[in-house]
Amino acid sequence: MKVIRSPKRIQEICMSLKKERKIIGFVPTMGYFHEGHLSLVKVAKKKSDVLVVSIFINPTQFGPKDDFKRYPKDLKRDKRLLKEIGCNFLFVPDIKNMYPEGYDTYVEVENLTRLLEGVSRPEHFKGVTTIVAKLFNIVQPDIAVFGQKDFQQAVVIKRMVKDLNFFVKIIVAPTIREKSGLALSSRNMYLSDKEKNEALVLYQSLNLAKKMIESGERDSRKIKDRMKKLIQEKPMAKVDYIAINDSETLRPLKKLKGDVLISFAVRVGKTRLIDNIKIKV
Ligand code: AMP
Repeated sequence: MKVIRSPKRIQEICMSLKKERKIIGFVPTMGYFHEGHLSLVKVAKKKSDVLVVSIFINPTQFGPKDDFKRYPKDLKRDKRLLKEIGCNFLFVPDIKNMYPEGYDTYVEVENLTRLLEGVSRPEHFKGVTTIVAKLFNIVQPDIAVFGQKDFQQAVVIKRMVKDLNFFVKIIVAPTIREKSGLALSSRNMYLSDKEKNEALVLYQSLNLAKKMIESGERDSRKIKDRMKKLIQEKPMAKVDYIAINDSETLRPLKKLKGDVLISFAVRVGKTRLIDNIKIKV
């Protein structure tokens, strides 16, 4: 595996790979890998001739109160794990090479980013779409893999790809969970043992919603209320939002119908956790 820091260098490499008609698979990440990240890398590996992974803690997607400065890193371990999977190129740019002096261009998906995560994190998706657009231009992947864990992010990126005619196929891979059901996240490391234990209620609330739907409940309010009640039984958990939306358009649903996304953000102590499930009704 080659480790490349220069955007220009990886772009040259990818351009020559494309001339050789190699299928480039790409997984953009912020590093500090867990099995969730690695599952995406494995999917991309299977579907490509050459696998490129990026690790870049992108400052523009963090809000002023977010954890940019303390975001966890362990490049040595990440490199080892990528090598084991057979990654060909690891792209690890510096901030100053991605956002050099005078940087002034942003990519924004307008409506899909105003709801759900966009309410509490108004600048977040602008940072995500900007960095992903830059990475797509640099790596020119044929396929790129994202996690269902960040469902809205995947929807927003698919929209950007369609609207801006990027030549890349977006694949969304399932959420990887601990045995307890807790979705893996780099941010889980901020949780104390007690908080982690309370965080198990999050997956239980998704299961509760699933059960209610299976028993015929279609009223969005009733499902959200029961989920909220369950989560609020844990003293350290504070609900930011619980939402039920159409999984393609992200339109909020009063009555459940079609492919439905149930998602939430909940603070457990100081750590903000998100999770979701998609259900066919
Ligand atoms: P991040 O490093 O947090 O930006 O995440 C990089 C990619 O990994 C994104 O596409 C995430 O959606 C995905 N991801 C994060 N957690 C999980 C998980 N538990 N299961 C599957 N994919 C995940």
